[in-house]
Amino acid sequence: MISYNPVTDELLGRLAAVVGEAAVSTAEAERQARAKDMSHHAAHLSEAVVWPQTAEQVAAILRLAHEAGVPVTPWGAGSSLEGNPIPLHGGLLLAMERMDRVVAVHPADFQVTVQPGLGYKDLNLRLAPDGLFFAPDPGANASIGGMLANNAAGSRTVKYGATKDNVLAMQVALADGRLIRVGSRSVKQSAGYDLLHLFVGSEGTLGVITEATLKLVPRPAVMSAVVATFPAVAAAIEAVVAIRGTGLDVAALEFVGAETAAVATREAGVDWGERPTVLMEIHAAHSASAELDLALVQQICRELGATGFRATMDPTERQALWHVRHHLFEMLLRAFPGTHWIVLDIAVPISSYPELVAAAESALAAEAMFGSLIGHAGDGNLHVAVAYSDDDGLRRAERINEAVVSQAIALGGTSTGEHGVGIGKRQFMVAEHATAVDVMREIKQTLDPRGILNPGKVLP
Ligand SMILES: Cc1cc2nc3c(=O)[nH]c(=O)nc-3n(C[C@H](O)[C@H](O)[C@H](O)COP(=O)(O)OP(=O)(O)OC[C@H]3O[C@@H](n4cnc5c(N)ncnc54)[C@H](O)[C@@H]3O)c2cc1C
Repeated sequence: MISYNPVTDELLGRLAAVVGEAAVSTAEAERQARAKDMSHHAAHLSEAVVWPQTAEQVAAILRLAHEAGVPVTPWGAGSSLEGNPIPLHGGLLLAMERMDRVVAVHPADFQVTVQPGLGYKDLNLRLAPDGLFFAPDPGANASIGGMLANNAAGSRTVKYGATKDNVLAMQVALADGRLIRVGSRSVKQSAGYDLLHLFVGSEGTLGVITEATLKLVPRPAVMSAVVATFPAVAAAIEAVVAIRGTGLDVAALEFVGAETAAVATREAGVDWGERPTVLMEIHAAHSASAELDLALVQQICRELGATGFRATMDPTERQALWHVRHHLFEMLLRAFPGTHWIVLDIAVPISSYPELVAAAESALAAEAMFGSLIGHAGDGNLHVAVAYSDDDGLRRAERINEAVVSQAIALGGTSTGEHGVGIGKRQFMVAEHATAVDVMREIKQTLDPRGILNPGKVLP
């Protein structure tokens, strides 16, 4: 067990010499504001918040913390769902929000280089005039650094991949204060160990990302959206698998369980009723080919017994649909005031998706709990938001989590498709990775021998 030293006045003085007095704070309000992410995990206060503005400042902060044996927890936008940025052992909270510059846009290469504190939504607003966008879309207003550190994904992963598939190079500050560059701006890279992807998904436990060069994609000419409702989950999932199998340019294939569809119908005025619902986005180069694509999707849905089908190429209607999808969790919060939530995040090979949904439904039934099923079904990722209101409910929700995660691993899947390990999934690491966890520990020991980076996360 590593023991840590407290943040002393002397260390605060040295930090102020690096970043300026105004960029170091021990004020309770600042620490409270960054004591808890969006998860159900308990808040924990850091001892001080530091706001670096440059990579060199991040490196200097880490060097000081390393020498002093003080923990450092990076904080992007705090939108994690597994306690990932909670400063469990106190120490310094490294708030990345002032490192929010676009360093360079390379439109001819479909690339952009950014600082990590930039929000991906802000980045996409900035890129819109160039007809380009950064594809991963976790929904919440996440920072690029937090997305890289969690390997976030979203509804468009089925076409464009997760964050790891959309990054080419990064600058990383190591625990001892060294600054290194990993990856390159070449799309093809084969030189040496893939350190780039070692840091992606490492949740701030191996290094702090100080800059990243991201892949961009051109906006498709025609984007159509489809909503189809089905009499039963099995038919909805069969449609997802069949539509993936057509080879159409499907950019999103999302599943919404019947109870959640009912909430959206009540809260957002959509006409999904109380049926298992599939939301889709399909891209095409021409409206004529988009119409043919939609006709094929409609035929598949009808053959599988769809009770409702609506397709649109109207951009406003499509955006309104995705707005509803991205705000489903907020709608649940409104529909069940005073309730707490655990959000499960499991993923399996797509053929096992119906079994995973069935396992989630039976685990909820066994504990007599309400759970909202929402999934990025096109890539086998399911979320179950389990509602609870007291300690007994929390225990039952945790039992559901354990049952569903175990089933996902047994089906050849993973304990987390996109939210990361944080605090909540550490207990499943050995079941999922067996002795590979020992290798992870050795990597951690090599890169962060004093264990100062985001302690208490990822490794069991
Ligand atoms: C309503 C809602 C919907 C969501 N939907 C999705 C979804 O569809 N897909 C998905 O993937 N996630 C989703 N999330 C979870 C969350 O948005 C993502 O995990 C996101 O990547 C977190 O980014 P952040 O900037 O908020 O990072 P934070 O929560 O601040 O931090 C995340 C992790 O990254 C580390 N970190 C932050 N910055 C750096 C850095 N510069 N260098 C190294 N480590 C760093 C932190 O220490 C922490 O471990 C959702 C969350 C909410 C609230």
